[in-house]
Amino acid sequence: MKVEQNRVVSINYHLSEEQGELLEKSEEGIPMAYLHGHSNILEGLEAALKGHVAGDEISVTLTPEQAYGPVHEGAQQKVPIKHLAGKYKRLLPGMLVRVNTERGMRDAKVIKAGRFMVDIDTNHPFAGKTLTFVVVIRDVREATPEEISHGHAHGLGGHQH
Ligand code: ZN
Repeated sequence: MKVEQNRVVSINYHLSEEQGELLEKSEEGIPMAYLHGHSNILEGLEAALKGHVAGDEISVTLTPEQAYGPVHEGAQQKVPIKHLAGKYKRLLPGMLVRVNTERGMRDAKVIKAGRFMVDIDTNHPFAGKTLTFVVVIRDVREATPEEISHGHAHGLGGHQH
């Protein structure tokens, strides 16, 4: 079965910077499941997977524009710690947090934290990077009507609710 619109695709992946530094990978033995054609993953990655079948291994390199965009200057700001989503025992430089901004929830990286205020950088951690994905397709199946209406995959490697 080919990767197409409204099919659930299970993948294992390695994500590295162009120079070779590993940034992220799926957990060993546990594929990640996504619903194809619903912007669950980066558009460029989705396009590269289309038409492939279980067992295929593909490698695709995306420019920052195709991935998480350029690094924005001025994306650093000081916010009250109480504007962070979730409770953090200690905020350490480099930690990833979610913050409530006027444009909604954003991922941000802690630069430094004081007692009540924290300096954060709201650039995506992979902003400005050229990324290479190596993906192995483990399984392709038809999505259920429920998955299509939710816009994401359920079950192993997908959303649990
Ligand atoms: Zn759902």
